[in-house]
Amino acid sequence: MVKLMPSREVDVILSRLRVGHIWLTERHRFWVAGGSGAASDDVFLRGLDLWDGLEFVLRSVYGYQGCIMESGVCLDESPVGCRYCGRQRSQERVDAN
Ligand SMILES: [Zn+2]
Repeated sequence: MVKLMPSREVDVILSRLRVGHIWLTERHRFWVAGGSGAASDDVFLRGLDLWDGLEFVLRSVYGYQGCIMESGVCLDESPVGCRYCGRQRSQERVDAN
């Protein structure tokens, strides 16, 4: 896996994406459970849109490759995943068939 030299901007974006990934995952979990703590649809969708745009910038502007999470894989239970994990998962589905 090739990554560009680490830069402060990349670190800042990665940090925001990681926090956002956890936020989206938790809000979705609250929403499914029907309990308090769920974001309104508007807030959730705005957060998702921002998250997606930020990840796009990370890859298109900074050439980042690989998963955005420190662990190297997005949370399984999350309704969202980074583009890298999305590609890995669709490849696994192709390989399984
Ligand atoms: Zn990922």
